[in-house]
Amino acid sequence: MLYYRPQAHLNLMDYGILVPLKDERASLSLKKLACEHNFQKALRIGFLKPDDLKQVFEASFIDRLWGKELEQEIIKTFELINANGEFHRYDPLLKKKDFSQLRDSILLQCEGTLESCQLALKNQSFVYHFGGGLHHGHYDHGSGFCLLNDLVLAVVLLKKQGLLKSAWVLDIDAHKGDGTAAMLRDKKWVKTLSIHMKEGWPLDSDRLDEFGKLKPCFVPSDLDIEIQKGEEIHYLPRLQEGLEKMQQQYGLPDLCLIVGGEDPWQGDGLPGSALLQLTSEQMLQRDLMVYDFFKKNAVPQVWTLGGGYGELSWTMYYQFLAELRDSQREKI
Ligand SMILES: [Zn+2]
Repeated sequence: MLYYRPQAHLNLMDYGILVPLKDERASLSLKKLACEHNFQKALRIGFLKPDDLKQVFEASFIDRLWGKELEQEIIKTFELINANGEFHRYDPLLKKKDFSQLRDSILLQCEGTLESCQLALKNQSFVYHFGGGLHHGHYDHGSGFCLLNDLVLAVVLLKKQGLLKSAWVLDIDAHKGDGTAAMLRDKKWVKTLSIHMKEGWPLDSDRLDEFGKLKPCFVPSDLDIEIQKGEEIHYLPRLQEGLEKMQQQYGLPDLCLIVGGEDPWQGDGLPGSALLQLTSEQMLQRDLMVYDFFKKNAVPQVWTLGGGYGELSWTMYYQFLAELRDSQREKI
């Protein structure tokens, strides 16, 4: 099932934020699949309120997002001011919409991930959500273009509602799911696997503070797989090994949420993800490997977009979905 909520349209350029993260990732993929009018729409809109978020995130952080500190929180999350106090990849003159609309769109994406999980659990099936995957979002702050962590929000609320007993969050984006790992570290019923670039962002390794004291920043996922630059050949075997290890160690979950970022692709437009350079074929094999693993084991799976930058990133989402259709794995 393809799930899309056009109301959650997110085009950062509309806010003067010069990051090529485009909502066309969804619309172009749907068009090429000839599914522009044939996808699961949102069942409910606007049902998540700040009080619901406070069940998962720090209350004062949520208050800031709905208060006059919103602009500061967005600036921090998208790193719009550099160390010299100058605007960085941000031009307020190009801003066409208010930041409150950006926050609301992100909230709608969170709803989308939650609803996708509910649908996947209800139908014991595959749901592809054209949104979400905001894996750098933390308990008390946004980070790395991710204001609110939709993955953690969804699994924790579903657990509280008694709709699942166990879950995995599988992160195949180029960047480590650091926010997810940190927020879920004490929750034994949910397990995290992240396969990502060994070097580069997020800069969460332990480091010295201004007093020369070691500041612990690194929070491991339950399983982290780090791929060194130039070692892409090992990516697929190590991912397969990781999935099997998770199954052996923790058993299969009631639901798996996947951050299907397309930024490990060599054609991706974000310079910061250039340390991982998977070919189009490797990307397809990656996605099918994950899909087949959960399908074979009858685990409901929800995919989210995660990172994917530049004009062509949508082609990677498309090729996976087209293959699911053409190989008759899914009716799309
Ligand atoms: Zn990424």
